[in-house]
Amino acid sequence: MRNILHSINSFNEAKQVIPGGVNSPVRAFKSVGGTPLFIQRGEGYKIFDIDENEYIDFVQSWGPLIFGHCDKDIESCVLSALQCGLSFGAPTARETALIKEILPCYHGIEKMRLVNSGTEATMSAIRLARAFSKKDDIIKFDGCYHGHSDALLVSAGSGCATFGTPSSPGIPNDISKHTLVARYNDIDSVRECMQASGNVACIIIEPIAGNMGLVPADKEFLLSLRELCDKHHIVLILDEVMSGFRAGLNGVQSFVEIEADLATFGKVIGGGMPLAAFGGKQEIMDMLSPEGGVYQAGTLSGNPIATAAGLVTLCKIKNTPNLYTRLEQLAHFLVNGLQSIAHRHNIALQTSVRGSMFGFFFNQNQVKNFDDAKKSDTQLFARFHQEMLRRGVYFACSQFETGFICTPMDKGVIERVLECADESFAAIKK
Ligand SMILES: *Cc1c(COP(=O)(O)O)cnc(C)c1O
Repeated sequence: MRNILHSINSFNEAKQVIPGGVNSPVRAFKSVGGTPLFIQRGEGYKIFDIDENEYIDFVQSWGPLIFGHCDKDIESCVLSALQCGLSFGAPTARETALIKEILPCYHGIEKMRLVNSGTEATMSAIRLARAFSKKDDIIKFDGCYHGHSDALLVSAGSGCATFGTPSSPGIPNDISKHTLVARYNDIDSVRECMQASGNVACIIIEPIAGNMGLVPADKEFLLSLRELCDKHHIVLILDEVMSGFRAGLNGVQSFVEIEADLATFGKVIGGGMPLAAFGGKQEIMDMLSPEGGVYQAGTLSGNPIATAAGLVTLCKIKNTPNLYTRLEQLAHFLVNGLQSIAHRHNIALQTSVRGSMFGFFFNQNQVKNFDDAKKSDTQLFARFHQEMLRRGVYFACSQFETGFICTPMDKGVIERVLECADESFAAIKK
């Protein structure tokens, strides 16, 4: 057993002044038990906790760090930006430069605005979609996460899942009633929602869902969704906050030829700093204030340090040949290895990969939607997580999250992880 006394003490101290001891709930390790590790520093694919234990990190700040921790190129660009001032609240050239790196990678997106978080990006995209279509209702999918704004913290109600119910106290029914919840990878459920509403402004989807575990949408499903939106003048919002520049250089467009009316980005495009963006067709985007009437703003939006981190990250991505192919090979090597080891221990494991993103479910059957995902053995996952952590492997602390490969990893690292997995499954079976 590793010594994590300092983490335990720090967690207790944090709990005195921070609700649950954390500034974002998943960090509390609730679903796997135990104490969250307090992190001292990172280095490449590794993180070190404040007791100086070392871990192979598959969380990578929940996605942003495609080049791992403390990448020298990113570090030096951020340092030189720092020396020019932290924030001005006035335009800087780097904002345009960053957006010009993103736009050519995404068909159909002509203009973009920078914000500070994925939550802001999706919230603003929805306001814009409602203004553009002059309708009020939105459709989202059960198991997709788009940040924590009121309209999007809605889950499928019981019974025939059309009109959603708030998934958090504090959200008025008057708001959640405008959000309908459809089933992922099920186009008929979308049609049902559209019929129930008759007033749908937009559909928002993670085209590669990463927040119920990794569940990519089927190609046919996405294309049907696009068709439905065109036919009924509904704005299609592709939320690529996680998958953008993670699954591939072109997000979902690396896999399926689909255009968005609006798209949202975050995580990788900020290179580890708080930065996100929403963009879309010019005629929609030009409705934003001051060009148009739709209000949206931010004191720190387009922050110079964040744009420096984002810009160098995107340039480095484009200058690294075979980046996604190499990361995807490592991801396959990992999940295929996990699957055959699990199989040897008589444990059923479902896996998937999209570029540098990977997921695995302790589940007998293939996972296509959130109902399938929820049938996974979360107890077994919790045991596995604890055993792996004990051996120095840091996976996301929930069955319903995605794992991330970063460039400093190589086959040798994955081989070590697979040895740990073999020992962990053996320990669990004992
Ligand atoms: C992380 C995430 C968000 C929210 O982004 P924050 O920066 O945490 O607000 C929104 N959508 C998706 C798909 C995400 O993965």
